[in-house]
Amino acid sequence: MIGSPKSPRLISEETRTIKFFLVLFYIFFFAYDIFNFYILPIYTKRGVSGLSDKGFGFWYHIAILGLLSVSLYFIKKGNPYIVKYIFLYSYTAIETINSLFIYLGSDKPFASGNIVELLFVFFSPIFVNKKYFWTAAICMIGKYVIIGVILQESNVLLPIITLFILSVIAYFLLTRFTSYIHSLTTVHLELRQKEKLAVIGQMAAGIGHEIRNPLSSLKGFTQLQRERYPNTNEFYPIMIQEIDRINLIVNDLMYLGRPKEVKFAKANIEEIIAYTLSITHQQAERAGVMIETILAGPLPPLDCDTHQLKQVFINLIKNAIESMPDGGRITIKVKVVDGKKMYITIEDEGCGIDEESIPNLGEPFYTTKTEGTGLGLMVTNQIINDHHGEITITSKREIGTIICVTLPITQQLRKE
Ligand code: ADP
Ligand code: MG
Repeated sequence: MIGSPKSPRLISEETRTIKFFLVLFYIFFFAYDIFNFYILPIYTKRGVSGLSDKGFGFWYHIAILGLLSVSLYFIKKGNPYIVKYIFLYSYTAIETINSLFIYLGSDKPFASGNIVELLFVFFSPIFVNKKYFWTAAICMIGKYVIIGVILQESNVLLPIITLFILSVIAYFLLTRFTSYIHSLTTVHLELRQKEKLAVIGQMAAGIGHEIRNPLSSLKGFTQLQRERYPNTNEFYPIMIQEIDRINLIVNDLMYLGRPKEVKFAKANIEEIIAYTLSITHQQAERAGVMIETILAGPLPPLDCDTHQLKQVFINLIKNAIESMPDGGRITIKVKVVDGKKMYITIEDEGCGIDEESIPNLGEPFYTTKTEGTGLGLMVTNQIINDHHGEITITSKREIGTIICVTLPITQQLRKE
C-alpha cells in the first residue's frame, strides 16, 4: 500500500526521498574515496597515493557517476521507485567485480569497499519498503561473503559484522515506521468511514422523512381504490406490496440517521419470530421456501427493543429467502446457553457468500442483488450492537449460509 506507485502524491514523496538519497550517496561515495586514496596515504606515508592500477581504475568512478543520468531519466519518467534498486544492484556488481580484479591473485590484504554500503543499509528505512530493506541488507552482506569465499580472506568479517548490526537497527526503525504509518492509515480510514456514515445517515433521515408522508397517503388511497373497485383487484395487492417495500427501505435508511435510543423491555422471542414469519411468509411461498422453527425448550423473556429485533429478523429471513430463488428450506433455531445468552440461528440452503465478500457485508450499499439496497445487514449489525450482542456469518458457496445472532438475555449489568 505504502509503496504503491499509483498516487502522484506518493510518487513525489518517493522522488524527494530518492533525491535526498542520491545527494548523500555521491557525497559519501566520493568523499570516502578521495580521503581513502589521496589524503590518508599522505599522512600514513603509505607511499604512492591514488587508485590501484588493477581493476577498473577511474572507470569505476565514472560508471558510478553514469548511474546518475540513468536515475534522472527514470525520475523524469515518473518511476522513481526503480532508482534505489538500480543503484543497489549496479553498485554491488561493479564493486564486487572491481574488488575481485584488484585482489584476485594478489597478496595485498583485502581493504576495499566504501562507506556508502553502510548508507545503503542504515538509510534503507527512509524508503519505508521492506522489500528494499531486505534486498539492501542481503546485497551488501552477500557481497562481502562472496568476496570472502573467493579470496579466502578473513578481513571481510569486520564489514559483515558492522553491516549486520546496522541491518538489525535499520530493521527495527523500519518496523516502527511501517507500524506507525499503518496505524495512521487505519485511523484515517475509520474516520472516513464514520464521516461517510454520518453524512449518509443525515441524508437518509432527511429523505426518509420526506418520503414517508406521501407514501402513507399513497398506501391509504390505494387501499381505498381497492375497496371501491373490487373487480380490478389483481393489481392492488402488488401496488400495496411495492409500497410496503419502499416503506421498508425508507425505514432502513431512517434507522441510519436516527440517534440510537434503544428501549429495552422484556419480550417473548417466539412472538417476535412469529411476527417476522407473518410478514415474510408470502415472499417465502412465492419462492417455494419452507420455514421451520425449532425452539429448544421453554425460553426466558429477552431484554430487547421488540420493534428493532423484528426488523433484524425480517432482514435476515428475507436475505435467506432471496438466496434461494428456486426454493429450499430455512431453519430457525433458538436456544439458551448458561441461562445468560440466547442463540438464534437462521440457516438456509441458498447460494451462499464467497469468503472474501464476508467482510464487505456490513458496508452500506454493499449488495449483489439487482433490487437490493445493501442496507439490511448494516442496520442489522447496528441493532445487534446496540443490544450488546454478536452476529456471525458462516457460509459455503452453493451450499448455504448460517447466520448466528447471540443476545444477552438481560441488559441489567450493562445499565448499571
Ligand atoms: P440486500 O439484501 O439489499 O442486498 P443486505 O445488507 O441485506 O442487502 O445484504 C447484503 C448482501 O449480503 C446481499 O446482497 C447478499 O449478497 C449477501 N447476503 C446476505 N445474506 C445472505 C444469505 N443468507 N445468503 C447469501 N447471501 C447473503
Ligand atoms: Mg437484505
